[in-house]
Amino acid sequence: MKQATAQNERRIPAIILSLGIGTGQVTFFEGEKEVIRRVDLQESEVEAEIARFRVAVRTAAAELSLMARSSATNIPASEIFGAHLLMLNESSFAGRVESRIEQHKVNAEYAVVETARAFNKTQDATADRRFLEKSQDVDDVAQRLMRALTGSVEKQAALGPHAIVVARELRPSAIIEIAKHKPAGVITERGGWTSHTSILGRELKLPMVSGIKEVERLFAPNDNVIVDAINGEVIIDPCLETIERMRSLSLERSVTSAVTDSIPRTLITRDGTEITIRANADNRSVYENGRQLGARGIGLFRSESLIARPGAIPTEDQQFAIYESIAEAAGEERVRIRTFDIGIDSLADSRITPERNPSLGLRSIRLSLANEEIFRAQIRALLRASAGNNLDIILPMVTGIVEVKRTREIIEDEREKLSQAGIDVGAPNLGAMIEVPSAVLTVAEIAANTDFLCLGTNDLIQYLLAADRDNDSIADWYQTLHPAVIRAIEQVFVAANDAGVPAIVAGEMAGSTFYLPLLIGLGARELSMNLNSIQPTRNLISNITIAEAVELAELVKASPTAEATEQILRTYYLEHWNELFPPGLLELRHR
Ligand code: PEP
Ligand code: MG
Repeated sequence: MKQATAQNERRIPAIILSLGIGTGQVTFFEGEKEVIRRVDLQESEVEAEIARFRVAVRTAAAELSLMARSSATNIPASEIFGAHLLMLNESSFAGRVESRIEQHKVNAEYAVVETARAFNKTQDATADRRFLEKSQDVDDVAQRLMRALTGSVEKQAALGPHAIVVARELRPSAIIEIAKHKPAGVITERGGWTSHTSILGRELKLPMVSGIKEVERLFAPNDNVIVDAINGEVIIDPCLETIERMRSLSLERSVTSAVTDSIPRTLITRDGTEITIRANADNRSVYENGRQLGARGIGLFRSESLIARPGAIPTEDQQFAIYESIAEAAGEERVRIRTFDIGIDSLADSRITPERNPSLGLRSIRLSLANEEIFRAQIRALLRASAGNNLDIILPMVTGIVEVKRTREIIEDEREKLSQAGIDVGAPNLGAMIEVPSAVLTVAEIAANTDFLCLGTNDLIQYLLAADRDNDSIADWYQTLHPAVIRAIEQVFVAANDAGVPAIVAGEMAGSTFYLPLLIGLGARELSMNLNSIQPTRNLISNITIAEAVELAELVKASPTAEATEQILRTYYLEHWNELFPPGLLELRHR
């Protein structure tokens, strides 16, 4: 890195998405989009341009099939890349690009951009509409073609261990792809802590921040930058002293997080209460890794992860095979599978018009009940996979007992039909996500009609505070420690306790050591989290007492604001458990 002085450093506050520190040079991820220009061709050049485009298609297809086959990552990346490959090979996209080159006599890059734009704009009902419903997928494929056309090799090479990837926004598939190049850090304009891209970023251990405005104006390629996802800032042109300080902070963190004890199956607090940690896992290998870290069973299997592209709902038999395999892996410790938590955009039905308010729209359990054919196939797959296995069902976005009761009727109906056909079925427990305000206010009734509750804090905060979890411009209103959130959580534990049903916490809050003692003090005994959170969480739990956690929760209950609660927690931790937190964590903003 070139030298700079402390006076020349520029520090920009940022929202932390994934903890860590990364030092390196700026590489734009989506910036190439902006510089595509139209080049008018002579008639004699058209044929060669089409040939050049065909080479790029072959390159992109080869890249995609390699990535689809790759099982090096724990994430169902192969499904996403497989879908893109299908789009490239089987939709009319490539053909349309060629026609555009021929008819308009323009360069291939320009033709790709214009074709993608036309697809996204018109969304016209072509035969291959199922491949092209989602504009993000079209954009993904167009970007890949563009990289193949403009010399992807150099650009990919720039995405190495010293790259700080800068983008306006990243899709989940993009973060998976970026992580393969092991960059030093990621900076985006948009993205919230609980977005699926951020969840993946944490799982992939990428230091990641967002909330930086106008990234294309602020940074230039190769700018020296530190992503400080500990203190929540980006430092442009850092001086040597700052670089050294950040390096040692980052080293200290990696030493602390590398400390692992041999892992006992049961996890108890210092005063002897058992706390169960389960994994949020969507495939077998993720769970196997989680088990090694001490996870007991799968608390949340997001079944929508099986839908690789809009409309590609796996068949009953495909689902059955996956559910059975994951249930076998979980064994005695159980797996809890959530039914599809998707919006209508995932159905790829050409008759459907986009909703104005998708998070308040026809989604999750509502969508399942409105599309019984798909729902019943999923229920049958779950019932069959539960034969001889410990498999439970979770319903997403339940607003009251009506959805639960209707689902029970469907389950019973399908059970009967399967039994009559001589097919083995099990007896899955039925649980409800508690993640919208009406579910909290009727939680006693829901608890009486279910076998367990699953607290989805990511959505609960969003819906309680009317603050979109993916919109960083209102990140200050998305307050995990808002008194309404704390009271809602407490109400859920009280109702679950009264009804004698377990309540498991499965949102991102469960995996944060900063919030964990409060959750335990409020009554949490079961938590389900991403793999990265398991080790630090276990460490903390085994070193605190329930008595202290309850004392802490009592202090918090009287707190009027998220800000005041944050201060109460920080003071308590510094006084009682300072040595249990990684360096720098208590200085972070946590609201
Ligand atoms: C939640 O809402 O907290 C949750 C666990 O589910 P998801 O993040 O998939 O909405
Ligand atoms: Mg949710």
